[in-house]
Amino acid sequence: MAKKKIEKDSPISEEKVTNNVSENVEPTDTTSTTEDAAVSEEILEERSIAQKLLSLYHLQQIYSKIDKIRILRGELPEEVRDLEDACEGKTTRIAKYKDEIEEFRRKVVGEETKMKDALALIKRYEEQINNVRNNREYDSLNKEIEYQKLEIQLAEKNKGKYVAEIEGKTTDINLVDEKLKELSEILEVKKRELNVIIEETEIEEKELIEEAEKHKLLVDQRLLIAFERIRKNARNGLAIVQIERDACGGCFSTIPPQRQLDIRLHKKIIVCEACGRIFIDKQLVESQEN
Ligand SMILES: [Zn+2]
Repeated sequence: MAKKKIEKDSPISEEKVTNNVSENVEPTDTTSTTEDAAVSEEILEERSIAQKLLSLYHLQQIYSKIDKIRILRGELPEEVRDLEDACEGKTTRIAKYKDEIEEFRRKVVGEETKMKDALALIKRYEEQINNVRNNREYDSLNKEIEYQKLEIQLAEKNKGKYVAEIEGKTTDINLVDEKLKELSEILEVKKRELNVIIEETEIEEKELIEEAEKHKLLVDQRLLIAFERIRKNARNGLAIVQIERDACGGCFSTIPPQRQLDIRLHKKIIVCEACGRIFIDKQLVESQEN
């Protein structure tokens, strides 16, 4: 009978709750009395609905605490990951610059070798030029010497270019390294923060999950299924809400006065027509809290 009542009055029950749990036997429900005790049944039922709502409300509070922990922790791991990626990127870039500097150093050595070789050749040609036998030999050696001098000039020019490159890359490395140190420091702070939060909340979270599991057993099964579904779709994780300033505490849609009255009477499960969240009367919550 209670089942029928919920189905008739509540949008969630008709479409969602009963479809999923039609084979579920209603757990120890106080409403399964005989028809001649209609009045007392109604009182019992009313009390039972209030009880069901309060059970859900309590479960919601446990879940909200778990959500809070996860939100708190949820952003930090991502921040830590982003920072780790950034640091890795900078480290890779520094290594690349260092490789490039190595390459330029090898080129500098190459140019220096060219110069040394050219100088040795010039020296040898100058010795030979003293012993030439004719003008042709003299001109040819002179040409060679000129050529080697040009080679030295070119090598010097190239060396200068590579040295400038090394200087540029060294400046780049220093800049990136500075940024890397800055990021590494932030990363260390965030990592410590995350570890503290994990340490502090791990036990609490575990306890809350256990508490929620235990409490679930006390909640009306059909309602629980609806509740879980609403919670999954609700952005703030709230599946059971109170009325706040004549509006749904979940989606802030205005609730008509008659509906508010029905909620206050808690004779049936009433959900928000806009968002589907289950309503619980403020006074009912307060009476429980007191
Ligand atoms: Zn709503």
